[in-house]
Amino acid sequence: MTSHVVGYPRMGPKRELKFALESFWDKKTAASDLEKTAKDLRHAIWKEMADAGVTLIPSNTFSYYDQVLDTTALVGAVPPRYGWTGGEIGLDIYFSMARGNATQPAMEMTKWFDTNYHYIVPELSPETKFALSSRKAVSEYKEAKELGIETVPVLVGPVSYLLLAKADKAAPKNFNTLSLLDSLLPVYKQVLGELEEAGAKFVQIDEPTLVLDLEASKLEAFKKAYSILGSGLGVKLLLETYFADIPEETYKMVIELESVSAIGLDLVRGSKSLDLIKKIGLPAGKTLFAGVVDGRNVWANDLVASVAILEDLATTLGKERVVVSTSCSLMHTAVDLKNETKLDSELKSWLAFAAQKVLEVVALANAISGKKDEEFFSANAAALASRRSSPRVHNKAVQEAAAELKNSEHRRATNVSIRLEEQQKHLNLPILPTTTIGSFPQTPELRRVRREFKNNKITEEEYVKAIQGEISSVVKLQEELDIDVLVHGEPERNDMVEYFGEQLEGFCFSGNGWVQSYGSRCVKPPIIYGDVSRPKAMTVFWSTYAQSLTKRPMKGMLTGPVTILNWSFVRDDQPRSETCMQIALAIKDEVEDLEAAGVTVIQIDEAALREGLPLRKSEQASYQDWAVHGFRITACGVKDTTQIHTHMCYSNFNDIIHSIIDMDADVITIENSRSDEKLLSVFREGVVYGAGIGPGVYDIHSPRVPGFEEMAERARKMLAVLESKVLWINPDCGLKTRKYAEVVPALTNMVKAAKQLRTEL
Ligand code: GLN
Ligand code: ZN
Repeated sequence: MTSHVVGYPRMGPKRELKFALESFWDKKTAASDLEKTAKDLRHAIWKEMADAGVTLIPSNTFSYYDQVLDTTALVGAVPPRYGWTGGEIGLDIYFSMARGNATQPAMEMTKWFDTNYHYIVPELSPETKFALSSRKAVSEYKEAKELGIETVPVLVGPVSYLLLAKADKAAPKNFNTLSLLDSLLPVYKQVLGELEEAGAKFVQIDEPTLVLDLEASKLEAFKKAYSILGSGLGVKLLLETYFADIPEETYKMVIELESVSAIGLDLVRGSKSLDLIKKIGLPAGKTLFAGVVDGRNVWANDLVASVAILEDLATTLGKERVVVSTSCSLMHTAVDLKNETKLDSELKSWLAFAAQKVLEVVALANAISGKKDEEFFSANAAALASRRSSPRVHNKAVQEAAAELKNSEHRRATNVSIRLEEQQKHLNLPILPTTTIGSFPQTPELRRVRREFKNNKITEEEYVKAIQGEISSVVKLQEELDIDVLVHGEPERNDMVEYFGEQLEGFCFSGNGWVQSYGSRCVKPPIIYGDVSRPKAMTVFWSTYAQSLTKRPMKGMLTGPVTILNWSFVRDDQPRSETCMQIALAIKDEVEDLEAAGVTVIQIDEAALREGLPLRKSEQASYQDWAVHGFRITACGVKDTTQIHTHMCYSNFNDIIHSIIDMDADVITIENSRSDEKLLSVFREGVVYGAGIGPGVYDIHSPRVPGFEEMAERARKMLAVLESKVLWINPDCGLKTRKYAEVVPALTNMVKAAKQLRTEL
């Protein structure tokens, strides 16, 4: 049986790419240094897969920033504002699109389906002229070939590319990005032709939008695209899907596409696909790539269960028509368990990162071919058995408390408008209050202090002194800037989820389990392996210290249960909702401890609530119910005078606005400035929102410092649809990735904008 891997992490086992990118951006190293690091990483990955015995190894899954941006470069869809004049797209234009430049903001970025990966949204208009403008796919194929490794080049498919794009601001209202399909396909034909000429036999085309609920016109677009691509095609096409079940109608359409030789399905998230294949079958001559090894989690595969699935498929389709694969690209999991020195061996035996998953794929293929590696299989069985019965996983008291929760909806007793009035009595905030989202720049000095404390190089006393020093300077700065509701800056936090996970039972941490979030930014998701509980208060010490330094209100800063869940690797032996409720109980205790300690404004970040929304409509309502319930559990126990804030990193939530209202927070701050104020449309459509709301007035993902008029203008647009008494003025997210040289002028302008607007009311 053949083995295949959909894609592989590009950052490197120790985030080599991140460091190379950042030093290039800081002009400390040359383009050639960056290119060398990139090349070394690609080579190491290909060799690793070749040595493991993977039959179909992907290429062109490397990227300097993002695979969708690579596609924009491939087809030459550079928005006119970047001043590109044709020819091969170089690093300067590429990074201008990704990060903005001195005069132009970056392109919008948004979440890749329901993952925590962000892609750069293509901006298209009827004026867009496509032309092959990047030879990356071909050159990576050749690069591997020179090493003696035959690969399967991977492209983001043309229909998904258009469906994931947005209309340029200047485009007419009724413009549909899919209308560009005819002019886009010739570029794809050209790339496929060049890949064929270079010797490629198989090309993987990722069309993940195939798992969504698509209307007929979109299905037609797929039919048309693949029939046009098929004519005169010299390579075999693998159409790859992932992240959910493919709907039945879509499956029926896809298997009839003549140009498509193979289809890849996610059999981990897609629990119904197996039955679908058995029911409908697969036309003769076509191959099924069975994604049985989970690309989105870190658990060792249940090899026996996977063999059963593969054998089942082999019975239906014939062994030669089934290929063992990963459920999606492995870029959504950690890189290599080999580098984990701190995890104990029991825990480690339960896990598999990308490098281990590659071995699992090969072991499964071998087992089906009658070459079962007995040792590998028995080690796997022993690990699974120990995980099932370990006392580290199960805590009866927590399970009982979580079961109790089902008896209440956990709502606050008073309506939000009344609560806001009660809060204002002691907060005394001006109209259009200013605040920030939580973190302040994480300087190298700060990282050093945390690292040295972790490695026992400095004492606890020295550590506390250093962090308190940082908090006090952040507080002082905010007072100087005249911000109304302050934050302590989160200097003690490496990461908003890791910080809490480290203090909760049921979590463990890898040393190098990084996953790309956007560009060079990576996150190291905690691993939730057992029942969750909170042994002691987690933030009260720092928050009360910060409050003691100022008369202005200081926000207590917590991460909400849904975000902790969505940004962790979650146990797969109980429903996600169950784990969410356990975390909610722990955060509830923290909220109440903060209140008792005199903190009157508490922000519970639910940055990732939207991204956990299941892709298929049929599964969304139930998720929204339990996720919102989880949030309310945390906040329902405080007094009316305690102001609960929440923050979200996503404004594209027209579809879940009612859930957001149902969270019943007093104030919500949200990402806005990079999404063309999609949020405005929610309120234009008449949604009544009584709580405070702070749509970000500037983009913190870019180093660019916007002027105060620009920020004021954004707020004015909001004022046109919202009552002034509910509007807050704030950046769009935390400031941790920025530098003080950017933050100080940006916040100065932000406060100036708020003051200007107050005079206009
Ligand atoms: N409070 C967090 C911060 O400011 C929120 C980050 C986020 O939304 N991603 O860093
Ligand atoms: Zn955010």
